[in-house]
Amino acid sequence: MASKILCIIDGATDEKFQISEMLKLMFRGYFLTTPDGYETESNTCIMNLLGVENIPKNSRAWFEAKGNGINLCDNDLVLRTSLVNIKDGIITSLSNRSDEIDLPGYFSLGDYKGIMVLKGRANELSDVTSYPVHKHMGERLPEDLGIEQPLKDEGIYLVPWSPSVKPKIKEWNIEGFAVTGIPLVKGIAKAIGMKSSENQEFTGDVDTNILAKIDMVLDMAEKADFVLLHINGADEAAHRMNEEEKIEFRNKVIEMVNDKLMSSKHQVVVTSDHGTSSISGHHMKIKQPYYTNFDIKFNESEGIREWLKR
Ligand SMILES: [Zn+2]
Repeated sequence: MASKILCIIDGATDEKFQISEMLKLMFRGYFLTTPDGYETESNTCIMNLLGVENIPKNSRAWFEAKGNGINLCDNDLVLRTSLVNIKDGIITSLSNRSDEIDLPGYFSLGDYKGIMVLKGRANELSDVTSYPVHKHMGERLPEDLGIEQPLKDEGIYLVPWSPSVKPKIKEWNIEGFAVTGIPLVKGIAKAIGMKSSENQEFTGDVDTNILAKIDMVLDMAEKADFVLLHINGADEAAHRMNEEEKIEFRNKVIEMVNDKLMSSKHQVVVTSDHGTSSISGHHMKIKQPYYTNFDIKFNESEGIREWLKR
C-alpha cells in the first residue's frame, strides 16, 4: 500500500540555511507556518502543517501532559512548571531537583521541568500568569503569578508557564501514526486521533536513532493512511547555540530521508516547522521550504490539509 508521509525536521532552517542542496530538485514551494496572532513555536507550526483549522491557543502543556501519559479530565488546568532557586526574592538559578518534589498533581519531567495538573480548575486559565523564567534570571520573582505556591518558603519555587486547558480540536477520519520522540508531538497526534510510537531510542535530540525512526515510518506506511515523522534534534542543537552540531545532525537526517523515503513508493513531503537560529538560540518566523517526491503545490498557509483529504 502506498501512503502519505510528512517529515518535519524541527527547526531545520536558519539565517544560513534555507534550501537543501541534496533535495533541491524536489523543492516545490514554501509553507507559512506561523498564523497571524500566534507565536512561532512547534506546537502551533506543527498543527498548522498538519492542516489543523482554528489552531487552539493555550494548548501546549495539555498536549505535553497527554504525550507523557498523564490522565486528564476535561475541566483540568494544566501548567508547565520550572523549578527555580530563590534568594531574598531574587531568581538565582534553575533547580534540577524536580524529581524530589512530591505534590498532588505534580509530575516531574526531569531537571527543572515539570507539569502541574490542577483538577477541575480550567476556569482559572486567565488568572495564571505565564512566566518564562529563563528570560527573568537574576530578577525579582513577581509576588503573584495567579496560583498559590506550595513550595515558596523552602528557597525553591515552582514557576508556572504556558497554562493550558483542553483544546478544541477536530479528530481526523483517516488512520494516522506519528513517529516521534517528544511528548508534545505525541499529544498533538493523540488529539487528532493518531497513534504514536513508543521507543526509548527516539530521544527527541541529536542522539536519536534516525534509521530506526525511518524504518518504523516505512513499516507503518504499509498499515496507515498517513505517517508523521518528526525529528527534533536540529532544533535542540540550535537552542544550545551549537551550530556545528545542528549542521551535522541536519545533514545526516536529510541524507537518510533522501535515501530511504524519497525513493520509496509513498508520497513524501519534507519540510520544517520553523527556523531556529544557532546564533540567538531562538525560533525564527521564516517561510519553510518543502520538498516532495511527487507533483503537488500546496496552499502556503494551510499545510497539508487538502492533500490529506484526497
Ligand atoms: Zn524549539
